[in-house]
Amino acid sequence: MFKILKKSLNKTKEAIKQIVGAEKKEKIPKDLLEEALIEADIDYDLVEKLLNKLPNEVSRERLKKELDKIFNLPENKIEINDKPYVFLIIGVNGAGKTTTIAKLAYKFKNDGYSVILGAADTFRAAAIEQLSRWAEILDVPIIKTRQGHDPAAITYDTISSAKAKGFDIALIDTAGRLHNKKNLQNELKKIVNISKKAYPNAPQKKLLVIDATQGSSAINQAKIFNEVVGIDGIIVTKLDGTAKGGSLFSIVNELKIPIYFVGVGEKKEDLVKFDKNEFIEGMLEGLYSE
Ligand code: GDP
Repeated sequence: MFKILKKSLNKTKEAIKQIVGAEKKEKIPKDLLEEALIEADIDYDLVEKLLNKLPNEVSRERLKKELDKIFNLPENKIEINDKPYVFLIIGVNGAGKTTTIAKLAYKFKNDGYSVILGAADTFRAAAIEQLSRWAEILDVPIIKTRQGHDPAAITYDTISSAKAKGFDIALIDTAGRLHNKKNLQNELKKIVNISKKAYPNAPQKKLLVIDATQGSSAINQAKIFNEVVGIDGIIVTKLDGTAKGGSLFSIVNELKIPIYFVGVGEKKEDLVKFDKNEFIEGMLEGLYSE
């Protein structure tokens, strides 16, 4: 089977092979392993913690066991068991939020669900335009307003419209101005509260979009968003364009929040479900070349 997630680790694997070599190996000396894991952008403290438990020569099986433990989190399955099922999509500008919303809309439509979009990032005109273009391409309705209008009002209208018209899923874009933390905090809290007014169970999922090319530095952003609204799951974008694939271990280890999906390109099809086994196997292939 063609493994897209594994393939998206190609750049990370190349970087690892530069250090450990591309030949097949049974075991890797600890110091070399340390260098390779740090090169793949696994956080230094986590690498040290991992290596402390390992012998001087590390086999594939032994390392796999340790890497597995990091992903020991609640299941990352999304069950659309409510109507409307509301997703708030959160993250800093440029992380890939709008593109991810389009990918999710495409996926859910293909799964047979009806989808409506809400352009609640009213701060940037470009964000509204971009999401509107996707709505047209994907042929899904969008609730939007002019730049500068109240994002909470758009959220309310989107969920109310989903309820009134019987849509299965609402995907709501939010603003990501992290440099203005207080405002962002207030805005996101207001969006969550107003969602509940429109439909008490909403939002059923608050998903954080993180750019993998930022590596471990994305973790601090994620912590802030988690403190503000409480994140249910993570979507990591741009894994295709980075050698920092190891940062996913740091993200999960630090936040203890499951990764649901991974973005592996700019097209609407380029979203894959995150599978921890496939991901770990990909990393191990880079290290042990088998
Ligand atoms: P937003 O500001 O968070 O809404 O980010 P956008 O959705 O506008 O994405 C920013 C840029 O990243 C755009 O050029 C996207 O095409 C690109 N992008 C988003 N997701 C991915 C991905 O998974 N892989 C790659 N290679 N590019 C992506």
